[in-house]
Order: sequence, then structure tokens, then C-alpha cells
Amino acid sequence: MLNLPTYDDVVLAAKRLRGHAHRTPVLSSSTANRDVNAQIFFKCENLQRMGAFKFRGAFNALSNLSDEQRRAGVVAFSSGNHAQAVALAGRLLGIETTIVMPEDAPHSKMEATRGYGATVITYDRYTQDREEITRKLADEKGAVVIPPYDHPDVIAGQGTAAKELLEKVGPLDVIITPLGGGGLLSGTALAARALAPNIQVFGVEPEAGNDGQQSFRSGSIVHIDTPKTIADGAQTQHLGQYTYNIIKRDVNDIFTATDDELVDCMRFFAERMKLIVEPTGCLGLAAVRKMKDQLKGLRIGVIISGGNIDIQRFSSLIHA
Ligand SMILES: *Cc1c(COP(=O)(O)O)cnc(C)c1O
Repeated sequence: MLNLPTYDDVVLAAKRLRGHAHRTPVLSSSTANRDVNAQIFFKCENLQRMGAFKFRGAFNALSNLSDEQRRAGVVAFSSGNHAQAVALAGRLLGIETTIVMPEDAPHSKMEATRGYGATVITYDRYTQDREEITRKLADEKGAVVIPPYDHPDVIAGQGTAAKELLEKVGPLDVIITPLGGGGLLSGTALAARALAPNIQVFGVEPEAGNDGQQSFRSGSIVHIDTPKTIADGAQTQHLGQYTYNIIKRDVNDIFTATDDELVDCMRFFAERMKLIVEPTGCLGLAAVRKMKDQLKGLRIGVIISGGNIDIQRFSSLIHA
């Protein structure tokens, strides 16, 4: 039996994060409100430290380690935002971090991760198994592995974004977040169910990788091949045990968005709200736009999950 995290764990995470994570701004846009005929509150985690909500979960998980565990350091595998989140949290807490990344990961991400003080170990994604490398490294050092989503402290940390949003804007009818492995969505659901019992909680995935939707609707965790999508923060192959069980219990439904819809939203955020949002961060708004008939007149919280995209790539997507 899994011991699922609860709202109390989100409250504890919020205490640990105070003074370390930004309380990110909540923005609105009269154009967006007019377009969908509803009132949207955007929680801007693209403006979080290191550029995504992942800092919350990583910092919470690292803060909760014992002194002995801190001395041994931590290991994580990621080519994306989780890598930078663990690296930055480690630097702030004085914990050594080692990140396992594919050798063909974008140079800018490797450099950013090293810049936060992590040791980066590369592997060949076609011939080597990253989980095996990670486990071996962790065994050698006696280090703890920090997973990107399926961990109670990671989930609780991610839930603090929704907690801040609800505390700031008051009751909402709907809250909607991007969905990859489900850390953000399950944490959001814990906070939302506690603070606004009647709220509807929705997750949104890339259409090419709707394993979460399939899992939610079929009643067991569905595994898929790595999906082809520009939403690189949601290219996960399956939900986790913790995240699936919370999502199944506390989430109302899961929707999808296409890459073209995400690009339209990137353009909207840049032009109208002066925000750089990475493709994955656009999933919430993309779904709201499609569902506007059902959402008419409601108060809707949308979590913009991150803004890490290099500017060349941003402009080529926008101009395509
Ligand atoms: C990791 C990530 C997600 C997905 O989060 P999960 O907790 O894996 O569901 C969404 N957006 C961004 C920007 C991310 O970095």
C-alpha cells in the first residue's frame, strides 16, 4: 500500500520553500478573458527560479534529507528542467549533485545545469541505460536518487504553486495544469481539493502522448513510446504510482492539445502578455481555448509551468 502525500505535506513544503522559492505573480489578460468568455488567472511559474515550477519539488525533497543523506549527495537523471532544479536546490542547500544526461542533450541545458554547480555525467541514449547508470552512481556514493515526479516530497512541493494561487485569488471553479509524469497535477489536486472542495481539476497532455488520459480513463497505468511533440517537458512515457493514484482519486478529467495549438499560445503569451513560455507551459491555455463553451463565465486558474526555451528555437517555432 502506497502512503500517498496529503495536503499537510503541501503545507509543510510551503514552509520549507518560504524565502527560497519565488511567490510567482498571478497575471490576467483582458484579451484572453474576452476570447474565452471567462476569467482566467495565470500562475506564472515561467518566472520561478530556474524558470519552472520544478524548483519547488526539488528544493522540498532535498530539504527533507537527513544530515547523513545530505553529506552523501544526490543523483538525478534528466535532460530538462528537473536537472536544473535539483542542481540549484543542491547549491542553495550545500548538497553535492550529480545529474545524468544524454550526451546529445542541448548544450545550453548542460551548461545551465553545470552553472548551478552540478556534476554532469553523460551517456549514450542509444546504447546505455540511464536508470542503470544512475543506480550505479548512487550505489557507489551512497547517494539518494531524486526522481522528477513520482516522489511524495516532489509532489508536495509542486502543490505549493496551486496553494499560492488559491490563497491569492480566492475561490476558483476550475484549475488546469500541464501533465507529464503527474507531479504537478497531483500536487495541484491535493492543494485544490483541500482549499476549494468543489473545484474541477484538469490536466492537459500533448495529443501525441496521451498516456495519462488513457490511464485515467482505463483505470490502470498505460505505457507508451516517447511521444513526438514540441512539449519536451511532457514527453513522459507513463504516470508514476503515487501520481497515478492521486490523479485517479482527485482529478476530474484529462485533455490534450496539439503542437500547433501550443505554438498559437506561445505567440499569444509573447505578444499580449510579454511572457516567454515554453511549449509545455502552454498546455493549460490551449485546453481552455478549446473548451470555452463549457467554461463560459467561470473563474479559471491556469498554471503556466515553465519558460525555458532557447530564443532561437522560440523564434523558429513562432515563425513556422
Ligand atoms: C516537468 C514539466 C512539466 C510536467 O510536469 P510533471 O510533474 O512531470 O507532470 C510541465 N511543464 C514543464 C515546464 C515541466 O518542466
